[in-house]
Amino acid sequence: MNDLLVMKFGGTSMGSAERIRSAAALCEEAWRQRPVVVVVSAMAKVTDMLLEALRHAEGGDEAGLERLLRQLDEKHRRCCNELLEGAARDRTQRVLDGILEEFARIARGVLMLGERPPRSVDEAVAAGERLSAAMMAAYLETRGVDAFAVNGWDVIVTDAVFGNASPLLEQTREKAGAMLRPALEKRRLPVVTGFNGATLDGRPTTLGRGGSDFSASILASVLDAAELWIWSDVDGIMSADPRLVPDAKVLSEITYREAAELAYNGAKVLHPRTLAPLMEKGIPVWSRNSFNPSFPGTRIVPETKDGPIGPRAVTSMTNVALVSLDPASAVLSGTRIMARSLEALAAANAEVLALTSSSYRQNFCFLIRQSELPAVIEKLEETFSLELAHGYLHPIDVDLDVGLIAIVGEGMRGQAGLAGRIFTAISREMVNIIAIAQGSSELTIAIVVRKDGVEKAVRAVHAECALGR
Ligand code: ASP
Ligand code: MG
Repeated sequence: MNDLLVMKFGGTSMGSAERIRSAAALCEEAWRQRPVVVVVSAMAKVTDMLLEALRHAEGGDEAGLERLLRQLDEKHRRCCNELLEGAARDRTQRVLDGILEEFARIARGVLMLGERPPRSVDEAVAAGERLSAAMMAAYLETRGVDAFAVNGWDVIVTDAVFGNASPLLEQTREKAGAMLRPALEKRRLPVVTGFNGATLDGRPTTLGRGGSDFSASILASVLDAAELWIWSDVDGIMSADPRLVPDAKVLSEITYREAAELAYNGAKVLHPRTLAPLMEKGIPVWSRNSFNPSFPGTRIVPETKDGPIGPRAVTSMTNVALVSLDPASAVLSGTRIMARSLEALAAANAEVLALTSSSYRQNFCFLIRQSELPAVIEKLEETFSLELAHGYLHPIDVDLDVGLIAIVGEGMRGQAGLAGRIFTAISREMVNIIAIAQGSSELTIAIVVRKDGVEKAVRAVHAECALGR
């Protein structure tokens, strides 16, 4: 569709009646000029509350479950009351009640069973986005916009990996097209729930935490949108986290590949998988601040106007774990151990943030998110139960006192001496480097350091590479 704009609002941009009003004003302004599809997250904290409710249910804690159900009800009721009045309010409140009842029904099922099957979780947690989409659409209607709420599972088709599903783009193109195009032609404004989809045979799935960005990019891609605007609560993508680096600046333009690397390595502005569906078509993305809408934000494009200028940004992550495997005997093939470890990581559905190996003893280590550690250890112990029992493999070592810093930029490619300058800058701060990884694309240099050295290292690299204002 010509000139179609997809706009996505994150949890803080939907966080209260007042925020929803501001977001709606942005939707309305764009809709008066061009066709628009809106994608919304749940209100801030709501997905966490839904998941916590299910955890209480699984643990048999009925009181805890009921308390969260009450909190969820109060939060949305208050928002609905502040946002709407009269018949529109009553009608919307009934919709909210229905969605929360469905959630409660699934949660009570979990309570009875004492277990929380991933597919029930996916069906249940979609409630957060369904609640926020219902309120946004109802409020837009009161402003004279012909808006309507759409459930993600009626437009996005995914595989059956519950909790972290991937889209089937061709099927989604068909389904989303059939559902949304006729409405857009009539100048209607769909408000689609982010985060959720469904398998081809209609079982609800979710796209992973923070997945609403991904929902928006999937829809932008299959609807051939002209642009995607992602509204959050920060001015755009920055050269570093401004809480760590006071002179960090907003980047006016960066490439898809750079943005994807930054997201992957801990920058919180975009879900890491967001950009993939857009790259092929070159659909530009803007990262913008719904609290500061006059600021243009960051434009994410196939190639930047100033070309690859060198390092562009530095990010860090501290909620990570360094896992080391160390064969005790030369009888074992290190390569096989590595292969089987990677199989175990895949089975645990974990992402490897960095992987290094260099010793003739064939030991190696990899960095993962702490949230994924329990599943990873379980799979590794399962895979190597024999080797561990017989002492062919030293006990698996886990180091939580580490952090990752990543320097990202297309222009780092082929810049001799850059890595040396970065390492020198870090060691000048007396921060010890534990592991280093750089892919052959030379897009990112990843460095693992002690946790208490992360902030110093980020500042040192930011200054050394002159990334600031
Ligand atoms: N509400 C979901 C989450 O918190 C999806 C999102 O906000 O993007 O993970
Ligand atoms: Mg988000």
